[in-house]
Amino acid sequence: MFLLFGFRTVIHQLGHMMRACPACGNTAAQVIAKRVTKFTLFFIPLFPVRTRYGTQCTYCGASYAVSRNEATSLAAR
Ligand SMILES: [Zn+2]
Repeated sequence: MFLLFGFRTVIHQLGHMMRACPACGNTAAQVIAKRVTKFTLFFIPLFPVRTRYGTQCTYCGASYAVSRNEATSLAAR
């Protein structure tokens, strides 16, 4: 029997905000994103195994992990 399984990560953008970046110090747009990793069977995503939230600076590219509550509150602004 032949089983083809793996994982696939999809990034959902929740929004943007203007904020001073902790890495470069410039005030730039920060992208708020949700990364969902799903288990796949024969390239079909079945169920999520990991969900992470983070922000990424559009000026320098530095990214930081944030909590789910912080990401949703920042995206709602
Ligand atoms: Zn930056």
